[in-house]
Amino acid sequence: MRLVPILLATAIAAALPSTAIAHGARSSADGVAAGRTPATSAPSPLRVAETRISDASMAVAAQLRETALASSLAWDITESLTTEVGPRLAGSEADARAVAWAQAKFAELGFDRVWTEPVTFPKWVRRSERAEVLGASAQPLVITALGGSPAGTVEAEVVRFADLAALEAAPAGSLAGRIAFVDYRMERARDGSGYGPGSRVRSRGPSAAIRAGASGFLMRSAGTDSHRNPHTGITRFDEGLEPVPSAALSVPDADQLARLLARGPVRLRLALDCGWDGEYTSQNVIGEMTGASRPDEVVLIGGHLDSWDLGTGAVDDAAGIGITLSAAVHVAALSRRPARSIRVVAFANEEQGLHGGNAYAAAHGGEVARHQLVAESDFGAGRIYGFNTGAPAHARAAAARIAEALAPLGIAPLDQGGPGPDVIAISRAGATWAWLGQDGSDYFDLHHTPDDTLDKIDPAALAQNAAAYAVFAYLAADAEGDFGSAPASAAAPD
Ligand code: ZN
Ligand code: ZN
Repeated sequence: MRLVPILLATAIAAALPSTAIAHGARSSADGVAAGRTPATSAPSPLRVAETRISDASMAVAAQLRETALASSLAWDITESLTTEVGPRLAGSEADARAVAWAQAKFAELGFDRVWTEPVTFPKWVRRSERAEVLGASAQPLVITALGGSPAGTVEAEVVRFADLAALEAAPAGSLAGRIAFVDYRMERARDGSGYGPGSRVRSRGPSAAIRAGASGFLMRSAGTDSHRNPHTGITRFDEGLEPVPSAALSVPDADQLARLLARGPVRLRLALDCGWDGEYTSQNVIGEMTGASRPDEVVLIGGHLDSWDLGTGAVDDAAGIGITLSAAVHVAALSRRPARSIRVVAFANEEQGLHGGNAYAAAHGGEVARHQLVAESDFGAGRIYGFNTGAPAHARAAAARIAEALAPLGIAPLDQGGPGPDVIAISRAGATWAWLGQDGSDYFDLHHTPDDTLDKIDPAALAQNAAAYAVFAYLAADAEGDFGSAPASAAAPD
């Protein structure tokens, strides 16, 4: 059985269908074990030599680390995308501009090969959104529609629930003609672990509300800030349910609504104009720096090109694009290229269901053994503090060498993590993941809000990320031997 750990459920829950979220939660323990457990599909140590990283490669990596740390290239790319394209809602007019931007940027940066691969998905549009308390304390409340919500205007009494479990326990029909309000407060954590329960309110709350008969759904945003900024994000309605208007209140507005409810019944008007509108075909934009001696084998790094529409998608995920494109450029600038190619993927539509990552796996799942390691940067722009891979026993020493080269950047080998959201699908197909864990302490202050803008990024932290990805990608690409990527067995549970 090949274990494909999905430990970082917190970082991926936003865009996953509820089945995938359940998978992430269930697989947490597997993730920890998999770091030490050889996959049965990997070659036997008796037949395959231990993967090695040479002293010469380590010396090059040390130089590469300093070069990347001193460079502003990751910042320049991030600044360009957030400024010139701005918000990049999947399927919007800006989606096409982002694809064109990425093709031009890869070419401008000197990638040897640049191409696109189509990604088709349902398109969701946001037109207007408004909520107001009616009656003696009449006042507006700041909300935003959840991605996937239908349009509609609901005028109804609000019923508060402390958390998702309380709403799920509401008897069928008990909320008929009411608006359900889940007032769950998400916890701040460096590894973003508060986002699992926070985002579950968003993914499962609307369906629970409908089952109890509600005609609308409101939640305290899955966020850790105290600003009047609601956090959007995708939701889904279970099969067979008639979707109802569903929105998130900013944290101070959730506080306000809770205080009003403590004084007595509250009637509220929720008016959303948004919804699904046909299909759209975007593109995964892919650039490659050709390896010196094994060009058909790749280290895959990347981020997602789309964003939500409220901010300019700076920390989510222009930073990931800037970090990984710049890392590949730094590696390619070496006087001696690594053996394997560095492939950078700017994934389409991560936010609404990992569409780009799924399309990549559908197109490349048959070439999984040619993927030396895969890693996505999609957890903001905070400093990287931890490194891990799902590599089997014969590559653990090489993984330790990579960790040794990352140590001067303040990065420790940790027994946690998992594939970033857009490389989950290719990991399930058998590619070995690597995790470069970013400090997400303030990520959920900004995530999916109007405050996700360039000024929130620390250029020095961004350069540290780029240096880490450059060192990691170079050493993985130049290793003598593999990291265990092999087609997942048909019997694998994933
Ligand atoms: Zn993201
Ligand atoms: Zn996101």
